[in-house]
Amino acid sequence: MTLLDTPIEKTMIPAPAADAAPARAEKVNLVGLTREDMAAALLQAGIPDRAVKMRVGQLWHWIYYRGVRSFDEMTSISKELRRDLADRFEVKRGEVVECQLSTDGTRKWLLRYGPNAEIETVHIPEEDRGALCVSSQVGCTLNCRFCHTGTMPWVRNLSPAEIVDQMMIARDTIGEWPSPSGTRMISNIVMMGMGEPLYNYDSVAKALRIIMDEEGISLSKRRITLSTSGVVPMIERVGRELGVGLAISLHAVRNDIRDLIVPLNRKYPIEQLLQACRDYPTAANSRRITFEYVMLKGINDSVADAKELVRLISGIPAKVNLIPFNPWPGSPYECSDQKTIDAFVEVVNRAGYSSPVRTPRGRDIMAACGQLKSASQKVRASEKVVPAA
Ligand code: SAH
Ligand code: SF4
Repeated sequence: MTLLDTPIEKTMIPAPAADAAPARAEKVNLVGLTREDMAAALLQAGIPDRAVKMRVGQLWHWIYYRGVRSFDEMTSISKELRRDLADRFEVKRGEVVECQLSTDGTRKWLLRYGPNAEIETVHIPEEDRGALCVSSQVGCTLNCRFCHTGTMPWVRNLSPAEIVDQMMIARDTIGEWPSPSGTRMISNIVMMGMGEPLYNYDSVAKALRIIMDEEGISLSKRRITLSTSGVVPMIERVGRELGVGLAISLHAVRNDIRDLIVPLNRKYPIEQLLQACRDYPTAANSRRITFEYVMLKGINDSVADAKELVRLISGIPAKVNLIPFNPWPGSPYECSDQKTIDAFVEVVNRAGYSSPVRTPRGRDIMAACGQLKSASQKVRASEKVVPAA
């Protein structure tokens, strides 16, 4: 098999929908419901029509502004109603399997969302702020050759609840309730964890809308960045519907090289990807597009590559984020050496683009870009344990 035979995607056996309706006796998790969904659930539970909007407002405040998990603590709601709500609903958190702290302060959670669905979330603190790197899928259908997640089987998409939950758990650990109006240690979200967010757009969009809601977690769209390996047909919707910052995993300037390292390029080549970037409404939120570029020794790191990069992105309000390759067990590449990275940076800077080199964070706990991988395996239907009736 030649490298070009690497499949673009793993086979997608339809998994049970992550947000499928629960069995009758199961309580409905209020986390991850949009305001409209929550209103519908309350109506169905017998809350009078005229009171629904007010009740949604109260619940929203307690769940997303104050971070409470039990109805008992929701003291603006009568005791009787709290008891009724607790009978039918819950404010659920995922299971924290492990929480590791790096010597540089980076924290990584291994979270479980049911059997065989484990993902990782990473917090990267700075002096007076910090970014939360959030996952969108258990595994990834794509097979980028430098990415540890890409070596996992794709298990399933995360539901809106499971995406929001990563933020809730991080805030529980870091102690960031109620939503701070000033300094926040989780001040930014980057959709750069496990998975391709634009292959799970609906759930990602719902989750980000919940996180942006001003009466709850209230994180502005300016503080959210979505990274994609280049799902061209979805990029316009991200700009129009969410208005968050866009990061593109470009990583190569020639289609033959990108075809090898980001196989999705065979479906959506560089020219199409850059056209989608030119059409992205950056002017509306005055943000530049970030082009991520992993430095792979001898593959994509020459001065000629840097010059071509500058030519390709000319006219796009952009910055280039150079990522030193983070190795993982068995990874087929090496990181470019410092001199090569410096020469690359020089070309990009001289062309007027800011090109910070991303400092690897949390390498000692395998929490750096592209090192995330959980033990989840896809379970075939024939292997599923059927509970006794
Ligand atoms: N699936 C999305 C987001 C997750 S990856 C995407 O591909 O954009 C976040 C960033 O880390 C991407 O730019 C990805 O290409 C990069 N990355 C993956 N593996 C890496 C590695 N081993 N070293 C450095 N960066 C890596
Ligand atoms: Fe998936 Fe992104 Fe890794 Fe590629 S780099 S395999 S798209 S998570």
